Amino acid sequence: MQLGICKLCLLEKPLINSHLMARGVHDFCRTPNDDPISISSKVIMQSGRQLQHPLLCKECDGGILSREGESWVLPLLATAEGTFPFHDLLLEGTLGGSDGDSKVYAASKNAKIDVAKLTHFAMGVFWKASVHSWRGGETEPLIQFGKYGESARAFLRGEALFPATMALIVGIIPPAVKTIGFCYPYRGSASGYHNFLFFVPGIEFALLVGNMIPSGLKQTCFASHPLHPIVVSDGISGSIKSVIQESTAKAYRAANVVKYLNRVKNT
Ligand SMILES: [Zn+2]
Repeated sequence: MQLGICKLCLLEKPLINSHLMARGVHDFCRTPNDDPISISSKVIMQSGRQLQHPLLCKECDGGILSREGESWVLPLLATAEGTFPFHDLLLEGTLGGSDGDSKVYAASKNAKIDVAKLTHFAMGVFWKASVHSWRGGETEPLIQFGKYGESARAFLRGEALFPATMALIVGIIPPAVKTIGFCYPYRGSASGYHNFLFFVPGIEFALLVGNMIPSGLKQTCFASHPLHPIVVSDGISGSIKSVIQESTAKAYRAANVVKYLNRVKNT
């Protein structure tokens, strides 16, 4: 086993092969005749090739990323058979508000939604993409956190609260989810701050990073807003191509969420 500095605990330890997207996600996306479909901002590929790299020690990979996030989230993703356990859990809570094809649920009012674990899962994938290239022959990380990276690392280690300079937005595609695939983190088109996106079957995550995140968007943060809002929007289902285009274009349907959150605050 290769000895090296673990990117998460920063200690010199034997490193194991970490996956950018947990192995379970690949299994989810595999149908009998197909390899998983993975998508980056440049490429849509159907491939059994999993991106892996000796990045972390065993304790950080299995003991932290898996235990604190992945193992709770993965069994809840949408499947090719049409089930979507996470969406079922969401429906057991109360609908906060709706507007057109978007609905907002407050995870704070639903004990079945583990806010900490869903947050940790999303942050783990974004962070791994920010500390390694995950592409042969390239050295630049897949996405860039710059000076904000350390706050994400400390959060994942349980040493700090969710970074004040970030906002995590969680969007759910209602079943039956047509795109049983996933997309590695990529940078969206926001200006003034950075926005990064990725999705797994049924759930899309957007992470906004910087000091200039508009306050309206900041208020939709699943991790730090006390109501832990989750948006369900039909608008993001459809062909893979349109998923990419739409998810990039609308990072995110924040207006509906803000409207709902303000209403709750004022009552
Ligand atoms: Zn470690």
